[in-house]
Amino acid sequence: MAQHFLLSAQARTLSLKEIYKGGEEKAYETFRRLRWPATNGAPVCPRCSCAEAYDIATRRRFKCKACGHQFSVTSGTIFASRKMAFTDLLGAIAIFVNAVKGLSALQLSRDLNVQYKTAFVLAHKLREALSAEMKGLVMDGEVEIDGAYFGGHVRPENRKEDRKDRRLRENQTGKRRVVVALRERGGRTLPFVTLQEADGVEIARKHVAADAAMFADEASHWDELHAFFPMGRINHSLSYVEGNDHTNWVESYFSRLRRMVSGQHHHVSPRYLYQYANEAAWKEDHRRLPNGSAFTRTLVLALASPISRTFKGYWQRAS
Ligand SMILES: [Zn+2]
Repeated sequence: MAQHFLLSAQARTLSLKEIYKGGEEKAYETFRRLRWPATNGAPVCPRCSCAEAYDIATRRRFKCKACGHQFSVTSGTIFASRKMAFTDLLGAIAIFVNAVKGLSALQLSRDLNVQYKTAFVLAHKLREALSAEMKGLVMDGEVEIDGAYFGGHVRPENRKEDRKDRRLRENQTGKRRVVVALRERGGRTLPFVTLQEADGVEIARKHVAADAAMFADEASHWDELHAFFPMGRINHSLSYVEGNDHTNWVESYFSRLRRMVSGQHHHVSPRYLYQYANEAAWKEDHRRLPNGSAFTRTLVLALASPISRTFKGYWQRAS
């Protein structure tokens, strides 16, 4: 039997030990090289794109020779106004990338010895950076669709006579959401958070190429998709899969997301569900990428992402 990929040497190309052994100066160089790859780490003004800048080395800042703008390696990225050391930021990314089944903010805060809120905001910014890779994707080839409900669990009363019908809307918490996911066989996963699974019909029409073939289970709302795509439907009451008609790819995405939500985060508010859905999609699609490459890719995406509107000053606002 082939060795599981995560146990192979190729999957272990990155370690926390290397990051901390390299120290702050080396970590800073890594940031510069990945922020400005075209100039091999030499600063490029984010305002006017001029590649000539004065080095204010003592403060790790630069001043543009053309427009006078002062900037740093993290200006205009999700790491702007960072207070953490460069080694800790790289350490956070390594821990995040290596947690293939997800990572709680509490664990990250303990591993790095930073405040819970710092870890919470940083992890959400990283999830947001990953989602940049999925923006505007059009799914093609063989595309599977499925939905799964998360959150809004109502604990039944202990005494039978006190119990309410939890199927009725008035007895629900209003926190239940469904993640609808599109997944190309052998390709990318694209998740959406919505109120009901039937919304997936519109989602598919918008994000799946017209000449793609689609696969879904027997839920009746998917019947509408037959008008737009060649469809394969599965019958869950059969214990075997008939030929090509299955949704195994999208189901394995949902099993990763389930493990992430129930194993790491326990309760997920509807507000952040899309973040975990994106993280699980990215990790599912890059599951065979060596962790060193996944690390570099995450940092490149993070340095290319503009300051997060959602999480900028989040704690100041929420207090
Ligand atoms: Zn400039």
